[in-house]
Amino acid sequence: MADEMNYDVVIVGGGMVGASLAIALSATSLRIAVLEAVPFRSSSQPSYDDRAIALSFGTHRIFAGMGLWQALQAEITPIESIHISDRGRFGFTRLDSRDEGVAALGYVAISRAMGVVLAERLQQLPNVTLLCPAAVTGVVSGSDHAEVTVDYEGVMRCLHARLVVAADGASSQVREWFGIDTRRWDYGQTAVITNITPQRPHLNRAFERFTDSGPLALLPMSDNRCSVVYTVRSDHAEEVTALDDAAFLQSLQERFGSRLGEFLRVGARRAYPLQLVRAREHVRPRLALIGNAAHTLHPVAGQGFNLGLRDVAVLAEVLSDAAVAGRDIGALEVLQDYAKWRRRDHMKMIAFTDGLARIFANPLSPVRALRNAGMLAVDLLPPLKHVLTRHTMGLAGKLPRLARGLPLVRSVEPYSSAKTPSPSPSAPKGRRAPRGKGRKAAATGRVTDKS
Ligand SMILES: Cc1cc2nc3c(=O)[nH]c(=O)nc-3n(C[C@H](O)[C@H](O)[C@H](O)COP(=O)(O)OP(=O)(O)OC[C@H]3O[C@@H](n4cnc5c(N)ncnc54)[C@H](O)[C@@H]3O)c2cc1C
Repeated sequence: MADEMNYDVVIVGGGMVGASLAIALSATSLRIAVLEAVPFRSSSQPSYDDRAIALSFGTHRIFAGMGLWQALQAEITPIESIHISDRGRFGFTRLDSRDEGVAALGYVAISRAMGVVLAERLQQLPNVTLLCPAAVTGVVSGSDHAEVTVDYEGVMRCLHARLVVAADGASSQVREWFGIDTRRWDYGQTAVITNITPQRPHLNRAFERFTDSGPLALLPMSDNRCSVVYTVRSDHAEEVTALDDAAFLQSLQERFGSRLGEFLRVGARRAYPLQLVRAREHVRPRLALIGNAAHTLHPVAGQGFNLGLRDVAVLAEVLSDAAVAGRDIGALEVLQDYAKWRRRDHMKMIAFTDGLARIFANPLSPVRALRNAGMLAVDLLPPLKHVLTRHTMGLAGKLPRLARGLPLVRSVEPYSSAKTPSPSPSAPKGRRAPRGKGRKAAATGRVTDKS
């Protein structure tokens, strides 16, 4: 080994979820390293590409709490209402921001643009080190630390960490190295994404339309463009992506109908095969799984990243509190607090998205009649609609402090990294405790925020 570095938290994967965790944790005095294999602006970056991501209202709050929302604001388009319908049937429902008393139900951002904002922020944080391109080649867990081997600038390095966070996506290698099993389901569907420009103004409406080949979503974007997620059977995906622009637009128009007038222009297309992946365990001593490494969902309701960001907000809170209390942040008892807290939200979102994907792909008449009745019921019963909207907005269940608009850190931590070997010259130093009241709180471990 040519080099050795020491951190409190090593995050493997600087995608949308891993990068967000590092930024959230930068509010603590923990020393963090983010290891990302593919440069943020590279055309082959798997997390930051041309996908439009629907950010829920809850995500907006978490990003605001992390001090990121202002930087993202130039890149986003608000969603004021969501129109849900079933092609060829009468049932539909409409969720409206005015019914919830908010300016927007959510926002749309291109993941590539989010990548630029996240990368810029990562580089400004004194207690975060970004190693990129850096491919992790192995992780070994010991009793009081884990060792991560990484190929960085052609040199193999060994990083010591109290905690390793796997944020390395659906095919997580870290998950595999720890021997964590997964439950998988191949939907036999592929999402084809592109942008279109419709004849009529989208008026900041999002559309979710269930068709015989799978769900079709249109999200509002700038310049009256709409981002399209067009789900087709996987055995048709190649044929659909290869259609010329006119034929593609016609096929899309047939499925969507004329609510937005004629579709005039279409951009480049890209295909994503869809599967459900759920890790059977989310923590081990010295390891926590977040984002797609823990759960990869069908994009039918645009919830995957939002769910991952709630993992971030909860894990950051659990680690921050553990540090304040002087506990070992990589100990299983601490990490179990995170896993228990997240279980319900994970189960609900998996059941919700998986249920939608399956029920709306079912061509049987009784099932179609039932789902139409369901949509009408939601539309006619305001309390039911309110519950559905709160879930879509990411505001259901026990919310972490960041999602409630509160600061992450309750007080200054007495946690000291003194027990870990001293950092290498390239690793940043932890932040000092502030003077005055904060210092006293740190010395006594007193919690000042009772939220
Ligand atoms: C078509 C489509 C539409 C979607 N729309 C929405 C939406 O509207 N709203 C929403 O909330 N979600 C949406 N999602 C889901 C969302 O894209 C994912 O939930 C999100 O990308 C997960 O982020 P992640 O950081 O966990 O994983 P990833 O995005 O997969 O990032 C993992 C990162 O880890 C890196 N990595 C992997 N292995 C290593 C290694 N060994 N060493 C170092 N680095 C490594 C990768 O390079 C990558 O940068 C959509 C998904 C699809 C497919």
